[in-house]
Amino acid sequence: MKKVAVIGAGTMGNGIAHVFAQFGFKVNLIDVAQPALERAISTITKNLDRQVVKGSLTEEQKIQTLANLSTHSDLAEGVKGVELVVEAATENVDLKLKIFKDLDALTSPEVILATNTSSISITKIAAATSRPQQVIGMHFMNPVPVMKLVEIIRGYSTSDEVTNLIMETSKSLGKVPVEVNDYPGFVANRILMPMINEAIYSLYEGVAGVEQIDTVMKLGMAHPMGPLQLADFIGLDVCLAILEVLYEGFGNPKYAPCPLLVNMVTAGKQGVKTGEGFYNWSHGTKELVVAANFKK
Ligand code: NAD
Repeated sequence: MKKVAVIGAGTMGNGIAHVFAQFGFKVNLIDVAQPALERAISTITKNLDRQVVKGSLTEEQKIQTLANLSTHSDLAEGVKGVELVVEAATENVDLKLKIFKDLDALTSPEVILATNTSSISITKIAAATSRPQQVIGMHFMNPVPVMKLVEIIRGYSTSDEVTNLIMETSKSLGKVPVEVNDYPGFVANRILMPMINEAIYSLYEGVAGVEQIDTVMKLGMAHPMGPLQLADFIGLDVCLAILEVLYEGFGNPKYAPCPLLVNMVTAGKQGVKTGEGFYNWSHGTKELVVAANFKK
């Protein structure tokens, strides 16, 4: 494969487009919002500059990477002539079903349709198309240019041929793909989210404070950051949405989101992106929050 379309130019879409373009693919980056496309090109340029300074990329490779990228606000125009589409639009099931229905109509039958969804069923997305054997999950991790893992999720009908091709394509991007089956949360979030939820329960039940919980997991388990800080980075709304998918998907109360998490999202405390979550980020640094809910 040589030509791909990436749908959605947000946090993940710009990283995915960056990596494909860096490894020689022609990339059409598509977003309904023109400002998102402009921000994406500026972010990619900044990240490429950083790679050049670090010595992991030459100036010529940076120029070639940027030359491999083009931006489009029209879906039909953006998917013309591509062999693979990687969808990284907003995490909303109805939106994704509509995009895949449109992609099915707009692209020729041999085109592979991948999604970067964190939690929506690949089988459900595939069922919106007439080619479920060619629909697959390609779950990149944030930040995409840095993180090695790609979780490759086989929907109920995904073919061996498509799975193998996407595994090989991921390797050609310098990534390490891991094949998993399509069940709620796949593997990454099925294991990560209950840990984050349990950390929030420990705070909610007064077992320890924010800093204590994060320090135990950081220094005791050699995690690069504590689970509450990680939740702030991921977005508390995103954590809640994924826990709800696990809870509904398995019908098991062990996945029930902690009431403190629900309250914080309802109060608009979504972590770094809103300036406050378990920590205060509004001054550009990590500060402790004094909140009645956090008291022991
Ligand atoms: P984001 O909000 O940063 O970006 C989403 C982009 O999609 C926006 O620019 C929006 O304008 C665009 N968009 C919305 N509707 C569209 C449409 N119909 N056509 C084209 N573009 C459209 O979101 P994100 O964090 O980049 O997440 C994107 C996907 O990646 C989601 O499915 C999410 O679950 C998944 N994901 C996110 C992370 C993460 O850490 N943020 C990690 C892994 C996977």
